[in-house]
Amino acid sequence: ERIISEEANFEDLSLEQHLRPHSFNQYIGQDKVKENLKIFIEAAKMRQETLDHVLLYGPPGLGKTTLAAIIAAEMGGNLRTTSGPAIERPGDLAAILTAIEPGDVLFIDEVHRLPRSIEEVLYPAMEDFCLDIVIGKGPSARSIRLDLPPFTLVGATTRAGALSAPLRDRFGVLSRLEYYTPEQLKEIVLRTAAILDSEIDSRAAEEIASRSRGTPRIANRLLRRVRDFAQVKADGIISHSLTNEALDLLQVDRLGLDHIDHKLLKGIIEKFKGGPVGLETIAASIGEEAGTIEDVYEPYLLQIGFLQRTPRGRIVTPLVYEHFHMEVPKK
Ligand code: ADP
Repeated sequence: ERIISEEANFEDLSLEQHLRPHSFNQYIGQDKVKENLKIFIEAAKMRQETLDHVLLYGPPGLGKTTLAAIIAAEMGGNLRTTSGPAIERPGDLAAILTAIEPGDVLFIDEVHRLPRSIEEVLYPAMEDFCLDIVIGKGPSARSIRLDLPPFTLVGATTRAGALSAPLRDRFGVLSRLEYYTPEQLKEIVLRTAAILDSEIDSRAAEEIASRSRGTPRIANRLLRRVRDFAQVKADGIISHSLTNEALDLLQVDRLGLDHIDHKLLKGIIEKFKGGPVGLETIAASIGEEAGTIEDVYEPYLLQIGFLQRTPRGRIVTPLVYEHFHMEVPKK
């Protein structure tokens, strides 16, 4: 398992509840998203209505679940959480919807993975707050319509494009979460350290921030690992030199790249002269699945300008040669 994975691991899941910001004030960064949501929430409250359905999209670990909980708190409703793959049959969704109380927020993570048959049950629920269910079987089967209390659906997805158009159209608010800046991540690290009651110096927080790939979940995870080091190797205080030592040992480099990123980038340089080279060819040459490269390994490398997608395939940019202290080949 990669320490710099954006996905939550078991340890993250048990700790994240504790580290989550509970209000917009504590929620660092994403200023545009926050500002819009605050206005929409205030307007909905003034009209004594529920907030329009919200679609949050962006890479894992950027704070979508956290934001859903803040929206629920701001609207004064309960947060009910589920995920696309967890809802298998229409009855599963009906059970969730009929338990909703007025003003609740229903959070559906990975909403793009809802089965089509479920989406169809969701449409009238989103549009008219009602539920059409079929009772009985065969010739005596009939459909009844149940009224639901008004609620807000908050959907989260890593790719807005993966959502079916009719579902996407039913969200009134679409917000894209961005990768965080090193300054924002530093603030998040300092905040988490305070919650964990760890003493950390400013440069150590900056170091963790710059190796966290723009992602709060990774920043919090690296902080916990460095904190372990500080506890065992030092007096518990997280200094800059100790942070560097710990992160080097964990093989997370200055930009937050690990051995898999290195293997991918060096593979393109050494075997394909830096590209362009097709995804399938890269995949075969380093023994990884093309889909995994595309969905998991590449996004951050594209984001920091280390890789480019061209019609003829992937190329590594001069930044990569610089990062590895290699000379940029003349073409
Ligand atoms: P996602 O749902 O997008 O995968 P989460 O909401 O679960 O991400 O966030 C992962 C962790 O990162 C949370 O435990 C939270 O502590 C932290 N986090 C996310 N966004 C922020 C933020 N804006 N400010 C502070 N901490 C954050």
